[in-house]
Amino acid sequence: MQTYLVGGAVRDELLGLKVKDRDWVVVGATPEQMLARGFTQVGSDFPVFLHPKTREEYALARTERKQGHGYHGFSVYSAPDVTLEEDLLRRDLTINAIARSEQGELTDPFNGQADLEARKLRHVSEAFKEDPLRIMRTARFAARFQPLGFSVCTETMALMHDMVAEGEVEHLVPERVWQEIQRALHEQSPATFFQVLRDCGALAVLIPELSPDADFNAALDALQCIHATEGSTAERLAALFCTLDEPTCTARAKALKAPNDCQQLAWLTVAFIPVIRQLDPAQPDAGTLLELLEKADVWRRPERFSSLTRVLECALGSDDRERLKPLKSAADSAYGVDPKTLMARGFSGKELGQAIRSERLSRITQAVSRPSF
Ligand code: ATP
Ligand code: MG
Repeated sequence: MQTYLVGGAVRDELLGLKVKDRDWVVVGATPEQMLARGFTQVGSDFPVFLHPKTREEYALARTERKQGHGYHGFSVYSAPDVTLEEDLLRRDLTINAIARSEQGELTDPFNGQADLEARKLRHVSEAFKEDPLRIMRTARFAARFQPLGFSVCTETMALMHDMVAEGEVEHLVPERVWQEIQRALHEQSPATFFQVLRDCGALAVLIPELSPDADFNAALDALQCIHATEGSTAERLAALFCTLDEPTCTARAKALKAPNDCQQLAWLTVAFIPVIRQLDPAQPDAGTLLELLEKADVWRRPERFSSLTRVLECALGSDDRERLKPLKSAADSAYGVDPKTLMARGFSGKELGQAIRSERLSRITQAVSRPSF
């Protein structure tokens, strides 16, 4: 049996990048031999094992053939006679299909090293078409390596285009789509991910609402801005969705099965934007400000409110950014209302609620009527 380092570890090593996790492929072994060596099997679909000490993944060399649509429907063949080259052939991109033996010798049947030098993301074979997830992976690698000068080569872009036209992207399950989007949002150039998806037509299937040029460009500007602040996943998604209207945003975030905190921040962002654009920065209406703060549940969710203001800073154009000042100032002044003081003054129940609200309103009114506004 022979063991090779494969995939991202070899690629990143050749690029001179720090290697995060290492994947191995084992040629000429059976599952029984692996178990006898103390490996434990993970995953029922593929013959993948964990090393007893390092816990790194060791996969038996395998071939895959497509039988149905989407990510299901692969028939996997794994046996000691599957060669290293055959295993590399099932991989997505040439730069991910280089293997390194324990002696350090490289096996690179698809010229991945040349593509690393040329900064090209290129499919290994026509079998790329068998798995639509590869479109998203390719877009994600484009987003990761964009600063190094990588781009998707013309042939691969054409192939991805064909896959989209054949309806392959519709077969992706939301969980996989979200997993890729979530990762892509944190890559070096998240905007590139969406640009590649748009260029091959996949974005029109996955997030069709972003299609109009003006919306798309504004969304990517906001995303780039929040990326520069090292924003959370929720902040990044909210920035991406900032041009959508409330119902569309809610429906899309839900359809993507984004986690609740992401769905909520995206919704709050688009609910706030039109109201803030209407605010008169010189004489903002205190009632409207209080309603916004109540909508954001700012007293119970101060951290989410900070997230919201960070996203709004990025989502509002430079002309409208000034309008956030009264909102922040309203929040600061209303935070100071202490229910305990009002309780000590004899308020309780419904009256207490009303007293808190009117105290907040009066503080906001005072704060925004100062000459600085
Ligand atoms: P990362 O740095 O994100 O871990 P990676 O290239 O190692 O990047 P993994 O998801 O860890 O990506 O997968 C390891 C390898 O398995 C890839 O380099 C690629 O060769 C292969 N691979 C993973 N997913 C697919 C897929 N859907 N289709 C084809 N090959 C794949
Ligand atoms: Mg990896």
